[in-house]
Amino acid sequence: MSDPAQPPLKVLVAGGGVAGIEALLALRDLAGDRVDATLLTPDTEFTVRPWTVQEPFARPTAHRYPLERVARDVRATLHAGTLAAVDPARQVVHTGQGDELAYEALVVALGAKPEPAYPHATTFRGGPDAEAVHGLLQDLEGGYLRRIAFVVPPGAAWPLPLYELALMTAERARSLSLRDVEISLVTPEDRPLGVFGVTASDAVAALLDEAGVQVHLGRYAEIPDSRTVRFTPADGSFEADRIVALPTLAGRPIEGLPAAEHGFLPIDDTCAVVGVRNVWAAGDGTSFPIKQGGIAAQQADAVAQAIAVHAGVTGLPTVPFKPTLRGMLLTGSGTKWLRAAVAGGAGEAASIVSEHALWWPPSKIAGRYLAPYLATLDTALASAAPAAGAGDVPVDVDLGHAAPAVHAEGDPAGGIELLGG
Ligand SMILES: Cc1cc2nc3c(=O)[nH]c(=O)nc-3n(C[C@H](O)[C@H](O)[C@H](O)COP(=O)(O)OP(=O)(O)OC[C@H]3O[C@@H](n4cnc5c(N)ncnc54)[C@H](O)[C@@H]3O)c2cc1C
Repeated sequence: MSDPAQPPLKVLVAGGGVAGIEALLALRDLAGDRVDATLLTPDTEFTVRPWTVQEPFARPTAHRYPLERVARDVRATLHAGTLAAVDPARQVVHTGQGDELAYEALVVALGAKPEPAYPHATTFRGGPDAEAVHGLLQDLEGGYLRRIAFVVPPGAAWPLPLYELALMTAERARSLSLRDVEISLVTPEDRPLGVFGVTASDAVAALLDEAGVQVHLGRYAEIPDSRTVRFTPADGSFEADRIVALPTLAGRPIEGLPAAEHGFLPIDDTCAVVGVRNVWAAGDGTSFPIKQGGIAAQQADAVAQAIAVHAGVTGLPTVPFKPTLRGMLLTGSGTKWLRAAVAGGAGEAASIVSEHALWWPPSKIAGRYLAPYLATLDTALASAAPAAGAGDVPVDVDLGHAAPAVHAEGDPAGGIELLGG
């Protein structure tokens, strides 16, 4: 319920990635015409980066969507440009292109800057680095190298893509019957993908073991040259022909907004930027320690909820930000679905692993609004995913309210139905 006499709230969303799009979709659903939304972005396309792990293996590539189309579907004005500075006292932002835009609610969703952790390793940040890893695979297949190390650096906020690369490389070597290939994975984690809890982690450990990947857990690595992985504090090292590492992430500090350690935006439990009125933030650019698409989307949902209330919408349920991790692990020979409540140091997370989709539509980025929206834009994504069948684990949709009212232009169903909801 809302007061129709109140003019729509001017909402500016900076950043057209996971969090920005999820926030726009959620806002349109929760607040309808109570908000007048603008998307400020330098990009023309949204890329689902998690799929870029497949590109080195010449498997289906990342899905890309024109932001012009997305903006039209959510009835937002698209403003090309970058967020350069915020003046919270006047409630305006300055763009890198010299424009000034006014807001009544600002959503900062700029993502994070991936920075190489090791100068002597191949850094895998997704798309642009796929070619280098593809070359490495060709060398493996041609017999020019046989030992590959995959390294998670300290401070890497989302290690899953490296597990996928290691497992897919092992599967490629197995399927081509390559002999004497040694694949290792080095990580500071105590357990493989331990953030998903014991049950899921045990399943991942079994997968790695089956694939013949040597796992070095609880290890901080140094890479003094392009062929050596040294454990630190000093207790051993090993040689590899090639080393692939994840980047570390840093925030994108914005003039006028506070910055926490490494330039991330400090947020409170409601995803409001600390100490600044009417500014919220979501996604990898925030101080929340897990940088993952599903978490970015959940933060964006919390932000949209708060802004809808600010826009005068009443009667919305109060949904506290209780993050749940959902991970779709590509193994080269199949998919594992992992889910855990984020325990935040409060004991062991409830941990589930399944061969079948645990949420619907099945998607790499489990955004409540984003996943069904993208599924309608890209039927290939939905049809390539495993189908639900008898005996599946019940689908976890956990909608706190009705299915999204926003749908893709041309969607023949005329709306989005979340199956199982
Ligand atoms: C290889 C790889 C695999 C991954 N696998 C998974 C996975 O399996 N599951 C999962 O959930 N997550 C996965 N992730 C993480 C996921 O992609 C990120 O957590 C998610 O994209 C973060 O969303 P975001 O909106 O914060 O940032 P982004 O999606 O990065 O979006 C930020 C946007 O802001 C724009 N921007 C930057 N600066 C400015 C500015 N000054 N003004 C305006 N716009 C700006 C950027 O161009 C970008 O479009 C993976 C990531 C990578 C790289």
